[in-house]
Amino acid sequence: MTMTAENFKIEFADRLKELPPYLFVEIDKAKREAMAQGRDVINLGVGDPDSATPPHIVTAMIEAVKDGNNHHYAFDAGLPQLRQEIGKWFENRFSVKLDSDKEIYPLIGSKEGLAHLPFGIINPKDKVLLTDPAYPAYRPSLQFAGAKIVSVPIKASNDFIPDLAKLAEYKDIKAIVINYPNNPTAATATREFYEGLIKLAHEKGIIIISDMAYSEVYYDGEKPLSILEIEGAKDVAIEFHSFSKTYFMTGWRMGWACGNPTLIAALAKVKTNFDSGIFQAVQVAGIAALKSNDDVVEEMRTLYQERRDLFINGLRSIGWKITPPKATYYVWAKIPKGFNDSMETSKAFLEKADIVATPGVGFGEAGEGYVRMTLTVSKDRLNEAVARLKKFL
Ligand SMILES: *Cc1c(COP(=O)(O)O)cnc(C)c1O
Repeated sequence: MTMTAENFKIEFADRLKELPPYLFVEIDKAKREAMAQGRDVINLGVGDPDSATPPHIVTAMIEAVKDGNNHHYAFDAGLPQLRQEIGKWFENRFSVKLDSDKEIYPLIGSKEGLAHLPFGIINPKDKVLLTDPAYPAYRPSLQFAGAKIVSVPIKASNDFIPDLAKLAEYKDIKAIVINYPNNPTAATATREFYEGLIKLAHEKGIIIISDMAYSEVYYDGEKPLSILEIEGAKDVAIEFHSFSKTYFMTGWRMGWACGNPTLIAALAKVKTNFDSGIFQAVQVAGIAALKSNDDVVEEMRTLYQERRDLFINGLRSIGWKITPPKATYYVWAKIPKGFNDSMETSKAFLEKADIVATPGVGFGEAGEGYVRMTLTVSKDRLNEAVARLKKFL
C-alpha cells in the first residue's frame, strides 16, 4: 500500500497524551474573543512583569553582542565569572558559601533546569511528592521520566505549607518538589518547616527540589529563607533560582541551580546532552545584573508592594477580604460569595467585568475555591479592576 495523506496519520506520543488536560483552554479562548471584540480587558492572569529590564543590564548585553568572542558555543557550565558572581550574590543574600565549580550550575531559565533534573535522578515508578496546588511546569517532566506523582495538599489552615507529620507517613519517596515563596498561593516557608523537612530527608533518603524563583519578590522587609541556609541541606537539596522575576528578565532565559554537588552533576550531565549552554552575551548581561546596585531590586519591591497594598485595600473596601501576599506578585483569593467554583468565577469576571483571573483549579484540585490574580499591571489598572468588581460583585 502506498502512503497517502489519508492513511498516514501522525499522532502525538503516549507521553504527551498522558499529560493532564490544559484547564485554561476555555478562559484563554474567552480572553482572546474579548480582546478581538476590542473590549478593554485587564489581564490579571499573566505571571510576567510589565516592566522592562533595567538599562545597565541591557547596555551590558549590547556591548557583549558586539564582541565576536561571545558568538560561539558557550561552555555548558557557563562562564566561570558568571558562576563566581552567582556565588558572591548567594553568599551576600543568604550567608551561604557555594563552590562555584561543583555547587552552582547556570540554566537557560530555571524552568529548563527543573524540567531536565528528573531525567538525571528519577527512575520509572519512583515516587515523587508534589504539592497541590503547584506551578504546572513541574509535573510534565516528572511524568516523562516515569515518576509516580503523589499529591500533597497544601492548605490555608497550615499557611500553605505541607504538614510534616503527614509527610513522615509516606513510604519510599524518592523526591519532593517545594516552591517558596509559592506560586500560586504566595506563601513563604518557615525555618521550622525547612528544618523538619531536611531532618525527614536525611532519615528517609529523600531528595529535596526547591524552586526559589521569587526569592527577591517579598514584602514588608521579610526576606524569604533559602533552604540551603539550614544545616544539612547540602546533603539532600538542590535549589533553583532565576533572573526572571528579580531583574525583570523573563524573556532572557537565565537562572541557576545550586546545592548538592551530585544533584548538580546529574543535572549537568542531562543538560550536556540536551543543550549547549546560554548565549554568552546573555551571560555577560547576567553578570551585570548580579552586580546591580541594591536599589534596582529595591525599586522592584517598592513597585509591587504599592500595587499589593492598593489592590488588597481596594478589594477589602468592596467587601472581598484577602490575606495579603507575603511574597511573589500573586494574590491568591478565596472566590467571592455567590460563586460555586473557581472556573465559574473566572468566566464571570471576564464576561461581566473584562477581568482575567486564573481559576485556582488549574493549579491542582486543592486550588479549587480560589482564583489567582497578578500584580503585573499598573496601579491605575488595579484601581480600575476594583471599580469594575465593585459594580459587578
Ligand atoms: C516564573 C517561575 C519560574 C520560571 O522561571 P524562569 O527562570 O523564567 O524559567 C519558576 N518557578 C516558578 C514557580 C515561577 O513562577
